Amino acid sequence: MTQLKTIVVVGGSYAGTYLIDRLAPQVHKTHQIVLIQKNSHMHHIFAFPRISVVQGFEQKAFVPYTNAFHAAPAQSTTIIQGIVKTIMADCVVLEDGQDIPYEYLVVATGTGRPPLALTSKLDEMQTRRVLQQRIKEANDVVVVGGGAYGLQLAFDAKELYPTKNVTLIHSTIQLMPRFHPRLHEIVTSRATALGIRLIFAVIRHQITRSRKSGRVSEGRRQVVDQGYRSR
Ligand SMILES: Cc1cc2nc3c(=O)[nH]c(=O)nc-3n(C[C@H](O)[C@H](O)[C@H](O)COP(=O)(O)OP(=O)(O)OC[C@H]3O[C@@H](n4cnc5c(N)ncnc54)[C@H](O)[C@@H]3O)c2cc1C
Repeated sequence: MTQLKTIVVVGGSYAGTYLIDRLAPQVHKTHQIVLIQKNSHMHHIFAFPRISVVQGFEQKAFVPYTNAFHAAPAQSTTIIQGIVKTIMADCVVLEDGQDIPYEYLVVATGTGRPPLALTSKLDEMQTRRVLQQRIKEANDVVVVGGGAYGLQLAFDAKELYPTKNVTLIHSTIQLMPRFHPRLHEIVTSRATALGIRLIFAVIRHQITRSRKSGRVSEGRRQVVDQGYRSR
């Protein structure tokens, strides 16, 4: 029997898992696929802003790899939870020292820079629960950054807890700056209707957070106003 060659895929998020599902049925007679992925579960990051605020369904954002590949024949794909530290010409080297040889390599590590650390579903869920609880207990919620992530988080917090003071600080005069300016107007009017305070300003000094209480230190925060605020 001929030995199967190995295709290594680094990164098991949307791109990596989709690629494996499409590739494995076509190559499984000659190649095995090894997915190397630092998270124990696939992170459905579209839901992350919401599960940082709303309680009770954070488990759904961490999807097991058990049934990830519907089209891939059984045994065609192996999943290793690990962190690729070095890419060599014929193998990748994991943080724990293991070498995984490859014939072909797919790098699907995304464009973000999340910390390179192994994660488990339980730890990730716990992180979200701490955030949810902190927002639940706070009277004043300040969100820094008016891109999609920050906006959704601020809107969710204000819709779920209408009596809290929710402030969104954004560094330019256009919310969602990667999108059409008209979207800024739509989002601004919705924020105003909900009662979210908008501040267009640059934070000059890093916000410090008390390790004990998790509270932001007011004394070291300096917001430099860009000249517009909603109220
Ligand atoms: C809140 C939010 C909402 C979004 N909503 C949408 C949406 O509605 N529609 C849309 O099209 N896009 C959306 N996006 C963008 C979308 O999430 C990204 O485009 C997408 O995640 C990119 O997928 P990817 O597989 O290329 O990389 P990523 O999702 O970044 O995944 C990279 C994977 O590689 C792993 N990895 C990285 N380095 C290593 C290493 N050295 N060793 C092992 N593993 C490693 C990581 O653990 C991760 O699993 C959203 C993004 C966010 C943050």
